[in-house]
This record gives sequence, C-alpha cells and structure tokens, in this order.
Amino acid sequence: MADVHHWSCPYCNRDATLRDHDYLNGGTSLKIQDPAEGHKHLEWYYVVCPNPKCKKFTLNIGLFEFSYNRVVNEWEVGALLRSWALIPPSRAKAFPDYIPKSILDDYNEACLISDLSPKASATLSRRCLQGILRDFWKVKPGRLVDEVEQIKDKTDPLTWDAIDSVRKVGNIGAHMEKDINLIVDVDPNEAQMLIGLIEIVLKDWYVAREERKNRLLNIKSIADVKDSMKKGKP
Ligand SMILES: [Zn+2]
Repeated sequence: MADVHHWSCPYCNRDATLRDHDYLNGGTSLKIQDPAEGHKHLEWYYVVCPNPKCKKFTLNIGLFEFSYNRVVNEWEVGALLRSWALIPPSRAKAFPDYIPKSILDDYNEACLISDLSPKASATLSRRCLQGILRDFWKVKPGRLVDEVEQIKDKTDPLTWDAIDSVRKVGNIGAHMEKDINLIVDVDPNEAQMLIGLIEIVLKDWYVAREERKNRLLNIKSIADVKDSMKKGKP
C-alpha cells in the first residue's frame, strides 16, 4: 500500500499530506496454524479527505507476507501480496471531462479490475496510454514503445523520467513492445504502476494545458478590462 502520509483523494483528486487525525489504520496477524503459503498480515486503512470541501472517506485493505525473523527474534511484515479498494470500489481518480471519454473509460476500467485481473488491467492501461499519445501528441501510429519514443524530446523531462522508469519495470517494457492485442503477464504492482503513470500524464498534459489556457484567458480578460478603463478616461 502506498505511503499513507502522501495521499491523493479519489473523490476530489487533491494530493494531501495526512495528519494523524485524518486517518486510522490497524492490522491483524493471521498466524493461527502452519499454512502451506506462509503466515499473512492484514492491514486496513480508513482515510477522511482533509480537503474541507470534500471530507469523503476511503477504506482499503492490504494483505502482506508475515514471517518470523530468527536473527532479531521478531515477526516481520513483508511484501504486499494483494490490496483491495473497498470504498470507493475503484481507485480511479476523478478527471475532468475535457479529457476524451474513450481515454477515461479505459482508465476507469483498468482501475476497476487491477486487483482482480492485473493482466487485463495492464492491457487496458496500454491501450489508454496509446490513446493519450495519439490524441494529445498526434504521434505516428506504431508499436507503443515507438510511439512513446516519439515524444521523448517534446515532453517535460520529469514526466519523461516517470514514463522511462515505469518502462524498465518487470514485464511492462515487454508489454510496450508487443502488439496491442497480445496479453502479457504482469503482477498487481506492475498493473498499479501503469495506472499511476496514466494518472501522471493525464495531470501533466491535459490538466496542465487546460489550467494554462485558463490562466492566459484570465490575464487577457484583466488586461482587456484595464484597457477599456483607460480608453474610458476623458
Ligand atoms: Zn477529497
């Protein structure tokens, strides 16, 4: 599960630093018998959005590996095995509707099934990313890996670094080189990473462009008002 202190609300889409009174979490160690698959640890997270205009809550659960460390004689919580978004049922963030519907549909569906079928989720994410590259950057259609390469010199270096680092993880790189209809095996964390990448580019490209446009329009309207005031003077 992501660091609970740096949190982003699925309802209002605001990034927030959570204070102690914004969230509760707790866990249970599942170590009754000697199970073939090892002991587990279950952790729940209850967060109320600190944005005063939102204040909605989310509830998530994570299942972790749990083992006894004989060196330090302590039980240790290990890797995250699975996580579930209970409320809201998907971790999809709310994005503005000036982003094309087909792109948002793929993104929302990729989020909805990321736990249940990481493979299907990653396939939808890949199609979503391709849709974004073709709509926003008007790239020449090809393999996803080549389409990504086409924007290397056009996009902001920080966004490019994010794309590049996700490409290097596990099977995701292979995923981008394969035909769009080919389903490649990925684990839940990889599927989640692709979703994270889509969220970054939606924000850095579509949302940033719209906000810039609005700022410029705003400046222009202020300038126009000042200009007409000047002209109105005797
Ligand atoms: Zn919120």
